[in-house]
Amino acid sequence: MTQKQNDKSQTSPQTKKISTYITIIVLIVLALAIVALILAANAALLTPPDYTAAGILALIGVIAMTMSVFTLYQSRRQTAEMKIEIPKVMTTIGCSDMKCDSKTTREFQRGDYVYKELDAPCQKCASKQMITAIYKEVKEKEKKYNV
Ligand SMILES: [Zn+2]
Repeated sequence: MTQKQNDKSQTSPQTKKISTYITIIVLIVLALAIVALILAANAALLTPPDYTAAGILALIGVIAMTMSVFTLYQSRRQTAEMKIEIPKVMTTIGCSDMKCDSKTTREFQRGDYVYKELDAPCQKCASKQMITAIYKEVKEKEKKYNV
């Protein structure tokens, strides 16, 4: 039993927070399902055997087990989808010379702000570069939900 619980720590910290609650519920239901199946086996092995109780307990056990496995599968898929949808923050770097059209985009770095002058000179005209925009990258899929 303790070994089974240790396996659950494999999930990354981001998904762990969301799925821990569901995982606990699923484990409880799964444990109850196992208990029901054990009780069903005990009832069947009685002298005389109680097949009615065994049948009901076995049915409860199988249904509970199926439900918990299905819930676990569903939650895993949902957290995986959520992980992909985290938008990136991008920084656009432009040239301080108005005549130069040099423009580069990179991922946001700590300490970035708009109009911040950068140490690295422009690759085209060698004048100073500065941050012209910081924005969150919005995917096409998400745009549909905005009204
Ligand atoms: Zn330039």
